[in-house]
Amino acid sequence: MNLYNLPIHTLHAKRLRGDICTADIAESILQRIDETENVIHSFISLRNEEILEEARAADRRIQDDASVDELEGMPIAVKDLFSTRGIKTTCGSRFLENYVPPYESTVTQRLLDVRYNLVGKTNMDEFAMGSSTENSAYGVTRNPWNTECVPGGSSGGSATAVAAGQALAAMGSDTGGSIRQPASFNGIVGIKPTYGRISRWGMIAYASSFDQAGPLTRDVEDAALILEKVVGYDDKDATSLRLPTPSFRKSLGQSIKGSKIGLIKEIDLSSCDPEVIRVFEENLEVLKEAGAEIIEVSIPNIRHAVATYYVIAPCEASSNLGRYDGVRYGLRADDPEGLIDMYEKSRDEGFGKEVKMRILIGTFALSAGYYDAYYLKAQKIQSLIRLQYHNAFQKVDAIAMPVAPTPAFRIGEQSDNPLQMYLGDAFTIPANLAGLPGISIPGGFSKEGLPIGFQMLGGSLQEEKLIKLAHCFEQTVNLNSPDLVV
Ligand code: GLN
Repeated sequence: MNLYNLPIHTLHAKRLRGDICTADIAESILQRIDETENVIHSFISLRNEEILEEARAADRRIQDDASVDELEGMPIAVKDLFSTRGIKTTCGSRFLENYVPPYESTVTQRLLDVRYNLVGKTNMDEFAMGSSTENSAYGVTRNPWNTECVPGGSSGGSATAVAAGQALAAMGSDTGGSIRQPASFNGIVGIKPTYGRISRWGMIAYASSFDQAGPLTRDVEDAALILEKVVGYDDKDATSLRLPTPSFRKSLGQSIKGSKIGLIKEIDLSSCDPEVIRVFEENLEVLKEAGAEIIEVSIPNIRHAVATYYVIAPCEASSNLGRYDGVRYGLRADDPEGLIDMYEKSRDEGFGKEVKMRILIGTFALSAGYYDAYYLKAQKIQSLIRLQYHNAFQKVDAIAMPVAPTPAFRIGEQSDNPLQMYLGDAFTIPANLAGLPGISIPGGFSKEGLPIGFQMLGGSLQEEKLIKLAHCFEQTVNLNSPDLVV
């Protein structure tokens, strides 16, 4: 087994036993980047120079002190929307092509506190708007299971970096599925915690009431491990929850006998790819064999989730993106004829098509005369969805559904059809509307050898329960994984 394929917890145990050192891990990762990056293109920027050096420094510290952190010196990638002091942060946009943040996001600061080893900043849809990473200003990222296919998005580069062994884990963000869907498309684990669990400080904002960071990892144990480092109250984020950080790893290895898993009766799977339906049904059997009970629940307004999200998210985006005006930071157009022209030209040159479309939709939906019909109405439906989930979680421990209606689709296949692309978010968006934690775990493979994820949502702040269920599922499921093509 190559080191780049192993989870962090396994590698950490190996290095404490003296079987390997951190530099071996870094070398394995660097070699893998060398072999695959020109095909996959996971990264917008890479720190080739420093990775080995930092791993060696970790090894020196381990010699003196065996109590070093599990993440110390471990090569981890970070989505290019987390501000990293002194390291270019583009958010996938031309607007921020040369932006070097003067401060550090709380997520990356907490990883720095345990001396993680930043591999690089990963490719993503511009401002996290998209489901395929095709909306990046820095080119497409390819799926390592089939390089003709998209990696999902918007955290596509974070997911491919982990799947292809270019990093041991990665940080992503999930506003409407951007951690869970690429995790599904790449055969890895992705978790979005309850809204407010992880500080948004220093994350470039898309739709602030939904944005939530989370890890993409090789297995559930690594996800729990990273969550323990990054979850927790932060006074720099007004929506941060003032709660102690649970020891998520305590939830590993527990029996799920008697757990109740909800199936939403209003979800009609018949429009999904038959392979997605097959894997989902097999996955439910896995849970049943492990002793879980399947119960029907009702979320009547779930059919409005996509429409609701695609009103609220652009509204928030139109406001958040107002700051890119060519004055304060980021791109400024050359030779404008006056102030208004400078705003217009800078925004025209700096933003891509999808971002412009969403700014227009959001501005329209918030404008006087349309506010009540769109934004207010969407918020009312959001409240109903929240309430319906709350009621459902009185009866069940988790709710199961597929992550996406299809496995990874072909590059270019949905680019001309935004509505089709948006409908692909139908199973991930509800968790964001309701602020609930959700996890995507590898569930199986399609006949063509593409990964298909299994999703479970938990009640508010019920990450521990979710990790318990996901870990048991992971230990029980038989994946029969084919090989990567790179
Ligand atoms: N695909 C969704 C969108 O385009 C979600 C993106 C995300 O979670 N950042 O908005």
